[in-house]
Amino acid sequence: MATKTSRRKLGPATREMERINWLEFREWVPAKIDTVLLPLGTMEAHGVTANGTDIIIPLTMAREIASRVNAMIAPVVPYGFTGSLDAFPGNFTIPENVYREYVRAVLTGLARNKFKNIVMLNGHGAGQTAVLMALGQEIGRETNTRVLTVNWWSYCSDVCREVFGEDGGHAGNTETAYMLAIDPELVQRKHYTGPKMATAIPVPNTWNAYPFPSSILVYKEGEGYPNFDLAKARSYFKQVNDKVALLIEDTIQKWDMAGL
Ligand SMILES: [Zn+2]
Repeated sequence: MATKTSRRKLGPATREMERINWLEFREWVPAKIDTVLLPLGTMEAHGVTANGTDIIIPLTMAREIASRVNAMIAPVVPYGFTGSLDAFPGNFTIPENVYREYVRAVLTGLARNKFKNIVMLNGHGAGQTAVLMALGQEIGRETNTRVLTVNWWSYCSDVCREVFGEDGGHAGNTETAYMLAIDPELVQRKHYTGPKMATAIPVPNTWNAYPFPSSILVYKEGEGYPNFDLAKARSYFKQVNDKVALLIEDTIQKWDMAGL
């Protein structure tokens, strides 16, 4: 109970924008909170963990770090640009032009709601990263906001090497570990039949396939397969969240120092 009381003193009743009413929002934003975290995902097959991995990870990350970076959390954008894995059961792709315009409207709305710093916590790679990074620059320029886009898995590739002693992979060691740390029931180890379930990401312009034949894509042959070690998963989870929070703190501090 003590933690709850002290937390309340430090922030609003909730940092999640869909759970707060407009009166309290108005009290806090932008006077006391001028940063917002926007989680973005997609519905995509991820080996033996959930199709919503790219939604669940950035949303969890936002909840883990929001108090630390004094930010609100915008409602997640769950549907995204899945690309070459969208033929797997339960998957979706939003056409790129529709996705771009939808996210543009969301970002513009966050700027209109007086946030000065918009942090996109992106959960999905493929074509989505390029769309979001371009939008970050456009919206920042148009609305006079400061926009940071974080592709957490690439930004934290050093954490992967430190914890697992090897490179990562899509739905491999890293994402499976993060999901395991959130809730072991999100990872169905009994469905894992070994490295045959994975394919190494092709060297550009060598080959490509639609649908891509595996939902586990390792960056390097022989490395990055799912790891079911819970202790390593928890360590990875904590270090990734810390590293992303530090990046946000550091970037905001430097924006302020530069008077941007
Ligand atoms: Zn993913």
